[in-house]
Amino acid sequence: MDENFPIERIRNIGFIAHIDAGKTTVTERVLFLTGRIYKIGGVDEGTTVMDWMPQERERGITITSAASTTSWKEHRINIIDTPGHVDFTAEVERTLRVLDGGVVVLDAVAGVQPQSETVWRQAQRYTAPCICFINKMDRVGANFQRTVDMIKRRLGANPVPVQLPMGAESDFVGVADLLKEKAYFYSNGSLEEVEGPIPSEYQEEFHTYRESLIEKIVETDESLMVRYLEGDHIEAEELIEALRKATISLKAVPVLCGSALRTKGVGPLLDAIIDYLPSPLDIPPVKGVVPGNGRELIRESSIDAPLAALAFKVTIDPFVGRLVYLRVYSGQIKAGASVWNANKGVKERMGRVLRMHANHREELEEISAGNIVAAIGLKNTFTGDTICDASSPVVLEPPQFPSPVVSVAIEPLTRADQDKLAEALRKLAEEDPTFLVNYDEETGQTIISGMGELHLEVLVDRMLREFNVGATVGKPRVSYREAITIAVRSEGRFVRQTGGHGQYGHVWLEIAPLERGQGFVFKNRITGGVIPREYFKGIEDGVRDSLANGPLAGYPVVDVEVSLVDGTYHQVDSSELAFKTAASIAFREGVRTAKSNLLEPIMDLEVVTPGEFLGDILGDLGARRAHIKSIEGSGDTQMVEALIPLAEAFGYATALRSMSQGRATHTMEFASYEFVPEHITKAVVNLS
Ligand code: GDP
Repeated sequence: MDENFPIERIRNIGFIAHIDAGKTTVTERVLFLTGRIYKIGGVDEGTTVMDWMPQERERGITITSAASTTSWKEHRINIIDTPGHVDFTAEVERTLRVLDGGVVVLDAVAGVQPQSETVWRQAQRYTAPCICFINKMDRVGANFQRTVDMIKRRLGANPVPVQLPMGAESDFVGVADLLKEKAYFYSNGSLEEVEGPIPSEYQEEFHTYRESLIEKIVETDESLMVRYLEGDHIEAEELIEALRKATISLKAVPVLCGSALRTKGVGPLLDAIIDYLPSPLDIPPVKGVVPGNGRELIRESSIDAPLAALAFKVTIDPFVGRLVYLRVYSGQIKAGASVWNANKGVKERMGRVLRMHANHREELEEISAGNIVAAIGLKNTFTGDTICDASSPVVLEPPQFPSPVVSVAIEPLTRADQDKLAEALRKLAEEDPTFLVNYDEETGQTIISGMGELHLEVLVDRMLREFNVGATVGKPRVSYREAITIAVRSEGRFVRQTGGHGQYGHVWLEIAPLERGQGFVFKNRITGGVIPREYFKGIEDGVRDSLANGPLAGYPVVDVEVSLVDGTYHQVDSSELAFKTAASIAFREGVRTAKSNLLEPIMDLEVVTPGEFLGDILGDLGARRAHIKSIEGSGDTQMVEALIPLAEAFGYATALRSMSQGRATHTMEFASYEFVPEHITKAVVNLS
């Protein structure tokens, strides 16, 4: 039977890792040990519980952040599944936003890989406390200490090993807990854990590690430090408590190890999640604003505060329909009650509320602070919306999502597919805020856009399989932008005299370039009432509407400041519409003369390769207009960091595979928009 745990006994966590580090296997074993799954799944056989979508099984990657609830030693653990590939940044961001702590899974052979660094940086942005689990201790080449050193060097963190591995590779027999002074043994082929004293052959090493650990812990706590220096005995519980505090305040990262595949060290990992990672009470209270007036508001993690919950994921479930995953930050409310969607300003009814276990759903009577639940019936609620008490409205800070950088055209095969396509795309877009769907009036094509080639591939794959739509998919296309390079002053007049009531709008705009990433800024510098204020909104709208179509090749215009500086009006003939038209004429004329240039998305690329392929890889990157930032070698493995235009990066996965006999890996993430070299601008403009 499932119990309700008090808030201090809840842990909302995610496993974050480089693809292939073993995140899925760890999650599996955790769910198994916590007693909720009775058959161990294995990624290699494609039967895991968290990865339930067919193409995830085939690719062996995890995409949706399904949340799973389980319990361990009188604590509730909610596991929010995080994706392993950076093309799904939006997924990572939104999961990090709602979890209170993370378990970073590392590969004991490969160590800290580039993508571990990416997710680590993201976790830091959301200031989530973390512990590290060094997995695959059974593999040939596994090295605990080297990986600990890499955590320090590459992640700039303060790793604090709380265990000593006993043996390594095929002789990896278990782990010794440095604070509890106990050893845990596992034998191959058995799931059992045997607890015992520290074996004599590890005594010396154990004490060296333990001393250094204690020193690190007391350094974070003054009163413990005094007692330590005075030679007082300090209890294990006190040390654990101090390390817990240091972890939560991001001063330390406890490090554990094991082998998920052989179910070694997984029990102690669960203990560490409880011992060191924060409960919802340990993290700062959530911030939001009062809708309408923007005043900042803080909501304590308490059931006595008014309700505030963030929708962090929407999925379409085959059995129950639309499921909205909520992280409840404060308050409590009964299922069936009416709630307020503060972003949309609408009342919603929260029909049923479910707690999602790995293999069953539990119907709840109410939701309360600190929990993660899935609600049915919130029809107008989307990812990022806040659900709250109507009498005490709040908009919680939503996760930030970047805008898409790549698109493909998609065409239904038959008329019947046409309707199915629209429906499938609508549902997929609803689940993923970085996936956009547009209809191109000119060509009659449907264009879908996302964060990278793989992102779109996976979405198209789901569309074909889950929704059974027949469609052809075009080649990926770069989402260019246009930006001006010089400041101009531009006039727009819209004057019509047609018998009775005429039209009169007349403006002067100053149009100036902004730094990259600034978007659009509108300034009103009208003085002395030369244009009455009732027309200001029309003027801003006129400019805003014209941004969508740049003068070079019709791409959106960005990074531009437009100031309304002068104009004239007519007592009778002026209208908002006339000024809107005048503003749009002024803007379009202006940008035409402001020496526009194309901007293209530039990606951060990290390639890890055996040294022998480095030459070929660098040569190829040169041909792709890449800018090499660094080449770092450790042993036989080389890591290349580069900036590469997205336009040159299509098909990179395939190219890299063939250049390295499949042994190099890469990650790619959107970095920024930059100007395109002139000869390429010409080619793109001629094509458009
Ligand atoms: P994810 O991509 O991070 O979710 O990683 P998976 O859980 O899919 O694991 C990637 C591969 O590593 C699979 O072939 C696993 O069987 C294997 N693996 C996972 N954990 C271990 C481990 O502890 N030891 C060994 N030798 N292999 C492991």
